[in-house]
Amino acid sequence: AQAYLDKIEDKKSLNAFLDVRPEVTLKEAEAADRKIAEGTASPLTGVPIAHKDIFVTRNWASTAASKMLENYMSPFDATVVERIQEAGLVCLGKTNCDEFAMGSTTANSAYGKTFNPWNEHVVPGGSSGGSASCVAARLTPAATATDTGGSIRQPAAFCGVTGIKPTYGRPSRWGMIAFASSLDTAGVIAQTAEDCALVLSQMIGFDKRDSTSIELPPEDLTIGLNDGVKGLRIGVPRAWIDKAAPALRDSIYAALKVYEDLGAVLVDIKLEKADLGVPVYYIIAPAEASSNLGRFDGVRYGHRAQNYTDLLDMIKKSRDEGFGPEPKRRILIGTYVLSHGYYDAYYIKAQQVRRLIAEEFDHIFAENCDVIAAPVSTDAAFRFDDKSDPLSLYLSDLYTVPGSLAGLPSMSVPCGMSPDNLPFGLQLIAPKCKEARLLRTAHAYQ
Ligand code: GLN
Repeated sequence: AQAYLDKIEDKKSLNAFLDVRPEVTLKEAEAADRKIAEGTASPLTGVPIAHKDIFVTRNWASTAASKMLENYMSPFDATVVERIQEAGLVCLGKTNCDEFAMGSTTANSAYGKTFNPWNEHVVPGGSSGGSASCVAARLTPAATATDTGGSIRQPAAFCGVTGIKPTYGRPSRWGMIAFASSLDTAGVIAQTAEDCALVLSQMIGFDKRDSTSIELPPEDLTIGLNDGVKGLRIGVPRAWIDKAAPALRDSIYAALKVYEDLGAVLVDIKLEKADLGVPVYYIIAPAEASSNLGRFDGVRYGHRAQNYTDLLDMIKKSRDEGFGPEPKRRILIGTYVLSHGYYDAYYIKAQQVRRLIAEEFDHIFAENCDVIAAPVSTDAAFRFDDKSDPLSLYLSDLYTVPGSLAGLPSMSVPCGMSPDNLPFGLQLIAPKCKEARLLRTAHAYQ
């Protein structure tokens, strides 16, 4: 733990961490040492981990990278944090992200952007850019993250590490600061699929405090990891792959060739409804966000303005000062699509198309293939000064949001490099609750 804390201090300029408290970390490490000495340790006892600052933690501030929650100390730990701690992992601190997990660059953090360890001019991705960046820079062997529309997979791809978003409902959302509750999913970023399997096995499981938690018994996701891909049918959405930058497209086809050589069977598939993912996501996610962020009123917790005339003025000023531009934009969009007269035209319509997207995946998995392989994004990480308008950022989520809308487990695996020496990511998508299959597929390639 001390060695990792030293590295974190050394690489402070990455701005991957928002809160590091060495005295708390070292206390956890000492407790782990005692367990090891007593012979009561589990396999992950003493392994360091970092948590995205979307999970609430008792011993570190929980800000969601927003001024709204500056220095906020939670009275409890998120279920995911609690389970990881019970497994003996040692927390190194909290990682930077886009404000309330809204974004694809980590530049929306109220506490400064995080840098990509591969190249300081390009984004680390987002919203879990802090988690991806610190794993890539070897500041921690693993980090938790959250994915609502791609926030684990895209930063993992941009930083050249492995990230998994499990099935919606498998990890508990209890203690995750809510963005879009029907999509928010906790997961993990690490070096390899094997490391992801070890950590994710500790995170998932039924939690009665989350009403959408799936009632499945615990599962050791490392079982079967070495079973290979012989006979596995991999769905190949060529139209998607061919839309990506040429070098990325070639890397994806090269990876598919590796799978073929390992005995997998490639099957052409068409994802047509999934192409509607971006417009659907950018109605549903802001709608839910506008409702979830209603709780930040300056009364119960969070920032409260100093000077105001009456209650309404206090709430208005607190929200104006506390929220950054992206949450404000989403609150406005969300409130609009939920308002009387527009609700049916936008929100209900989006829910209907969401269902069609989920059914398209169900159909393809029932008829054609066991796993789908696709790019994570259209190209490698872009420069901080590119895509400065919100719309082009939203459009860049085209490959990740369909799996989110359908609640499917999906991951990003490093897959070659761009001509500018930046990592590419291969996205794998599996049917619901087939995380073990997904991880086995990724592991075979790695
Ligand atoms: N980039 C997407 C957004 O801005 C996804 C974010 C996420 O998954 N948290 O909403």
